[in-house]
Amino acid sequence: MLSRREALKTIALSTGAFALSSGFSQAQQAPSEVHKLPALGYDYDALEPFIDAETMKLHHDKHHAAYVAKLNQALEKEPSLATRPLEDLLRDPAALPESVRTDIRNQGGGHYNHTLFWQLLRKKENNAPDADMAKVLAANFGSVAAFEEQLQAAALKQFGSGWAWLVLRAGKLFIEGTPNQDNPLNTGGFPILGLDVWEHAYYLKYQNRRAEYLKALMQVLNWDFIGERYRQAKS
Ligand code: MN
Repeated sequence: MLSRREALKTIALSTGAFALSSGFSQAQQAPSEVHKLPALGYDYDALEPFIDAETMKLHHDKHHAAYVAKLNQALEKEPSLATRPLEDLLRDPAALPESVRTDIRNQGGGHYNHTLFWQLLRKKENNAPDADMAKVLAANFGSVAAFEEQLQAAALKQFGSGWAWLVLRAGKLFIEGTPNQDNPLNTGGFPILGLDVWEHAYYLKYQNRRAEYLKALMQVLNWDFIGERYRQAKS
């Protein structure tokens, strides 16, 4: 059986576009260059008409890039942390030096969350979970449709900026919300899927209509990636 770290590394490697855990830490580089903005992995307009190209470009090139830059800036204050995987740092914020704790949680969380988010999306005909994942969702939430409803409800009620998550916690699946760039890792969970409900994720196209944006997101979930991430995390 794979250790958790090996399993996560396998997820990162097997899912192609960019590595989630192994790409986060490169000790041999100067602190200011440790964390890098990953490529989006597809064209800005790949999710049209559900998510528009202009939003994707701003969201990735400006918002995500800013989290990476500010995280690197913060790590200059604590170079020893630059050699550690971001996932580890996010797992225990209370253990971080106070000088960087808030920045790692906010900027580091922003980097981690967005790196995951890009991989969770794709456009595909007849987009749906495979039979195994559909069974898992049905067992935990009633049905795939019920899961999607509950996930959207959590995202809708998240006050202000934040995320709605499908979380693996002690071997069980839960739907949870977090404010800001917090992440289930902060509280001992593992994020399988996260929906960004910051206004920057939808305001250009959907303005204040978060529910409409969430409905669109349900059309472009990358179920191959999500199913694989769940299976690897679970094993
Ligand atoms: Mn965002």
